[in-house]
Amino acid sequence: MESTSRPRVYHAVCRDCPLERVLESAEEADSLVSRHVGRTAHSMVAGRVD
Ligand SMILES: [Zn+2]
Repeated sequence: MESTSRPRVYHAVCRDCPLERVLESAEEADSLVSRHVGRTAHSMVAGRVD
């Protein structure tokens, strides 16, 4: 079994609309969240997926 480092995946999901995205970095996830929250005042969270 190889132990190659897989890319981390971040899942961002909005609680107030159907928006849902999978991002490849925490920065992308954070910027998506802050942009969406800034535009819509929705409540959005991002978390890492293993
Ligand atoms: Zn939303």
